[in-house]
Amino acid sequence: MITVPKDFLAKWKNGPSEKPLAFSRSERRHRHSRDRSAAADSLKFTKVDNFRRCSRCVLDTTVSDIWFDAAGVCKYCYIHDEMERLHPLKNMEEDLQRIVKRIKKAGRNKTYDCIVGVSGGRDSIYTLFLARKLGLRPLAVYFDNGWNTEIAVSNIRKATDLLRVDLHTVLADLEEFKDLQRAFLKASVPDADIPTVYAIHSVLYETAAKQGIGYILHGHSFRTEGTSPISWTYMDGRYIKNVHRRFGSGVIRSFKIMMLPYLLYYSFVKRIREVRLLEYIDYNKKKVDEILAHDLGWVYYGGYHHKNLYTKFFQSFLLPNKFNIDKRKTELSALVRSGQKTREEAIAELEASAYQYDRSVVIYAVAKLGWTLEEWERVYHRAPRSHKDFKTYLPLIRLLRLPIWVACKLRILPHILYLKYAS
Ligand SMILES: [Zn+2]
Repeated sequence: MITVPKDFLAKWKNGPSEKPLAFSRSERRHRHSRDRSAAADSLKFTKVDNFRRCSRCVLDTTVSDIWFDAAGVCKYCYIHDEMERLHPLKNMEEDLQRIVKRIKKAGRNKTYDCIVGVSGGRDSIYTLFLARKLGLRPLAVYFDNGWNTEIAVSNIRKATDLLRVDLHTVLADLEEFKDLQRAFLKASVPDADIPTVYAIHSVLYETAAKQGIGYILHGHSFRTEGTSPISWTYMDGRYIKNVHRRFGSGVIRSFKIMMLPYLLYYSFVKRIREVRLLEYIDYNKKKVDEILAHDLGWVYYGGYHHKNLYTKFFQSFLLPNKFNIDKRKTELSALVRSGQKTREEAIAELEASAYQYDRSVVIYAVAKLGWTLEEWERVYHRAPRSHKDFKTYLPLIRLLRLPIWVACKLRILPHILYLKYAS
């Protein structure tokens, strides 16, 4: 239980100094243009002087690595089309049956034939539901970093009980994990939520290797979630270690950060494969919500990935206010591309209001991270940086683009790895 110091509430009444937290409609319009020009000055990786939006989706020049073709269609629409080509809806039934057959064959005579990482959100719970419906025998793995909401935890319990799936929980050392989160916030990069994502990834591979399970099923779908721009979210093991070494303290012991040799070992020696199950189905969020609520008593947690309070703090407050990054654009763009929303509806949603955040969540997160208000303000006002300011595997990935392309073609590595990082 976190105790919030009284002065937090008083001092945060109007938000951190120099940056008001609440805006009227007219202020917001002014702020958007002001922020764009301010961002161009201060964010060396975000050039937004000539604001431009993709003619097909709603991604725009706040994504620094974006490019547009002659028709104004963006890089991420191209990635979407390539993923559609690799996972065409017309062949999905056959492809799905083929992959399920392969998973069952590899898992014969084993307790489990696949692993599903569960967070309590729609995508992971539906992946678990679908896996059972397809006759698979998954082991659910839950990584608890101390920030998940009660709704998310309850969703996991209900789903694993009703679906009769064993649940393996990996509890992070909470102090150690907070140190890693603080290190990313001090590093002042927009990737401050990747410790959780990468830790989950590492834990899934480690558990699969220990249990002799050959398949990890993911709940990600490019049709509903899209592909997060590399300048908005970048992650690899070398990056995490470098940020922790420069801004953290101690050694991370409670989970293994997956470095490149581990990934190669898991992929080529242990032959563990990742399958994005939802990419083989016509995944419709509205319909899925109804199924999950009806069959598993699943409860929506509200917002974009707000099942985790750190993610909520980070995505709804820190990214828009400090980095001029609105992650709603990624998901809305995906829904536009897959025909679940019109571009006009998505633009209207974005322009109706800036990303809303809950002030109490910001206060809670700062207190839980163990910072005083003054310490947090110093961190908050540090000049933004990017992954390019740290050691990462990206130069090596770009150098090895040809073998990576071959490995993706052979389905040893996920295609998105090549499309996003190496192409
Ligand atoms: Zn686009």
